[in-house]
Amino acid sequence: MPTKSTYDPEILPNLLPAYYKYLFPFNPYCTWLRYGVAQKSYFSLREFSFTLKDDVYIRYQSFNDQKELETEICSICPYKIDVGAVFSHKPKMYKTIKANSFVAEEKELVFDIDMTDYDDVRNCCSGAQICKKCWPLMIIAIKILDKALRDDFGFDHLLWIYSGRRGVHCWVCDSTARKLTPNGRAAIAEYLSVVKGGENNLKKVVLQEPIHPFIERSVEIIEEYFEGYALVDQDILRSENINEIINLIPEKNRNDNLQKVLLSANNSISRWNILTKELERPGVHAGRVLKEIMLQYCYPRLDVNVSKGLNHLLKSPFSVHPKTGRVCIPIDPTDVENFDPFTVPTISQLIDEINTTSENEENLKIKDYKRTSLKEGVEIFENFLKKLKKTWEGAMIKESDLKMEL
Ligand SMILES: [Zn+2]
Repeated sequence: MPTKSTYDPEILPNLLPAYYKYLFPFNPYCTWLRYGVAQKSYFSLREFSFTLKDDVYIRYQSFNDQKELETEICSICPYKIDVGAVFSHKPKMYKTIKANSFVAEEKELVFDIDMTDYDDVRNCCSGAQICKKCWPLMIIAIKILDKALRDDFGFDHLLWIYSGRRGVHCWVCDSTARKLTPNGRAAIAEYLSVVKGGENNLKKVVLQEPIHPFIERSVEIIEEYFEGYALVDQDILRSENINEIINLIPEKNRNDNLQKVLLSANNSISRWNILTKELERPGVHAGRVLKEIMLQYCYPRLDVNVSKGLNHLLKSPFSVHPKTGRVCIPIDPTDVENFDPFTVPTISQLIDEINTTSENEENLKIKDYKRTSLKEGVEIFENFLKKLKKTWEGAMIKESDLKMEL
């Protein structure tokens, strides 16, 4: 395969007009943000913000309908689109409204998982870099959070999005999630936060017994990846990291010669087996100690502040990441193993594709992401939308039944 995806951030402004005109899926996108026709104003109360050339950032944009949004986006071609809350008044009018009556009323419950928050447990990359050796952290994160949000909180409409560079976002779109108060959001984010403390806190996971079923389930998910990801690819028991692991074991449970015993083996798998055996002594709670280590190295790290506030903006699905050129496409949580961030289409690749597949200018008038590599991402989005639509169709039927009864 030729390196079609070569992308140079300098050319972004040249590609954006065609991307928005021919590829951005405005139709399903606006159907999503309308959440049915019952609440006519919902869409127009939503804040959008745009990042333009030279990091010019404009907040409080709002639009009455799809046509208005589409026209504006195609005209200003933002480098980045962010989605904010649904406000009490149209965001574009905010200057004319008394400050304390202009309030954020609803928003999807969102989660932001960013690989940079795992720097202390990644051996392969740091900062904004990602590679095939650390990406499994995102697979684990999606599996754990998706299950907990569905099973423990009863949410059904989870939209997972690749952030375009080094992480993933989750938009919980159920109506109950959108109506959550900041306290309710904080409570859910707290429940899901298992790895605690900042850089200076060495031991970031401390479990209480009996271990909560949600934590047990999360450990089971981590166990599927632990050997391949943590022991082989990250080599967490490599000689120079051994003390870091030993320090996670409560002092009273350590043998003085633990370091020596571990170093007698020559790879992380054998060393982990030795550690497991070493901890199998009376009074040590080996299971708990090992789980704490596994969680510290693999459990999803959440930016709680992003989830708590209603007023926090998040990069929009199908926005393009300006630095990588990759489109923020949906990820199917039931097929997350097969999601490869390194093959996510870049805007330059997509523009190449529409140029080569359309024989003439006439063809280009059809908004046809279906002829490009964007197809799969849009289909995942449409499937998510199909289920979501049933909720408001159900609500409409209920409403009309009520009217009939009256
Ligand atoms: Zn890496």
